[in-house]
Amino acid sequence: PEAITVAELANRMTERVGDVVKALMQNGVMATQNQTIDADTAELIIEEFGHTVTRVSDADVEQVIEQVEDNPEDLKDRAPIITVMGHVDHGKTSLLDAIRNAKVTQGEAGGITQHIGAYQVQTEGGTTLTFLDTPGHAAFTSMRSRGAQVTDIVILVVAADDAVMPQTIEAINHAKAAEVPMIVAINKCDKPDANPTKVRTDLLQHEVVVEEMSGDVQDVEVSAKSGKGLDELLEAIALQSEILELKANPDRAAQGAVIEAKLDVGRGPVATVLVQNGTLRQGDIFVVGEQWGKVRAMENDQGARVKEAGPSVPVEVLGLNGTPEAGDVLNVVSTEAQAREIAEYRQQVAKDKRAAAGAATTLEALMQKA
Ligand code: GDP
Ligand code: MG
Repeated sequence: PEAITVAELANRMTERVGDVVKALMQNGVMATQNQTIDADTAELIIEEFGHTVTRVSDADVEQVIEQVEDNPEDLKDRAPIITVMGHVDHGKTSLLDAIRNAKVTQGEAGGITQHIGAYQVQTEGGTTLTFLDTPGHAAFTSMRSRGAQVTDIVILVVAADDAVMPQTIEAINHAKAAEVPMIVAINKCDKPDANPTKVRTDLLQHEVVVEEMSGDVQDVEVSAKSGKGLDELLEAIALQSEILELKANPDRAAQGAVIEAKLDVGRGPVATVLVQNGTLRQGDIFVVGEQWGKVRAMENDQGARVKEAGPSVPVEVLGLNGTPEAGDVLNVVSTEAQAREIAEYRQQVAKDKRAAAGAATTLEALMQKA
């Protein structure tokens, strides 16, 4: 059952709170502005004030956000989305940097600066790969808890001079729970005390059997420092990607996931969105979690303005009315009214949930005292 505070109800009707409190009183309901009234009472009051009632429900939201299955003939190949995971200091950031810089055209001395928490590279074989930076971790975890998926392949980075550590095990569990295939990158192989064999045998204890041990998990010896094995790693990813046969429909309203979001002093709320299906275009109206917006501008991973972004493409999106959270799902809708309504509905649901949790805590506290 939905509920609304008296103040919020007054706000939505653009009526004075005092008048609403009075109207409630006349109907035998005593409530102050911060108190919650049920949907039926709210409806009664709305009608009394001569407004029409439009109740948004989960069903309405689902209807607006069309979840139609794509026709198989509309599906096109898309780039795999790769998340790098592993224990702290095992070289996740270094490896991502090394891959990016190795693939940057000559002449850009010192490599390129990273603009957003994701980037795309092309392998020698011509496959495009989308990498999520380590902050992608947060999105990965929060999306998984909501049943969504932002990753196709996990690169498990294990330092050859340190072997399997607690966060390595965590990453393995994540990948297994999400049923995402893993590729093991045995890093720091340039080091004199590197022991790749220990990494492989350690992994056995966690039911990760790499190819070198006659298993089916690809493993590649790399060094983010010297660049050794990077091409092999990219080829391993391309191979894994081929097996997965990843496809999406570029010709539909976009759906994506927020990788990271922040409130920028100059530009307002900014979100890095990974498009998962459809094509996101400048001018598109969307809802994203409890926020909504209209795409004012988009920048790609190189910091260049783009007018559209298709499946597996990460873009920075401007034009949001609020700051969403990592892991929030973005859906393009037809009208601003729909977008606003869905966002407000979700905000209300979230608020009610918090209020209910708060009430439960208070009740618990009272019971304990008694
Ligand atoms: P992260 O915490 O997993 O992101 O690890 P970083 O990329 O920040 O690397 C941690 C440290 O290991 C840094 O001092 C890196 O310079 C170093 N490092 C990373 N990769 C290599 C490598 O392949 N060889 C060597 N010798 N050092 C590395
Ligand atoms: Mg790092």
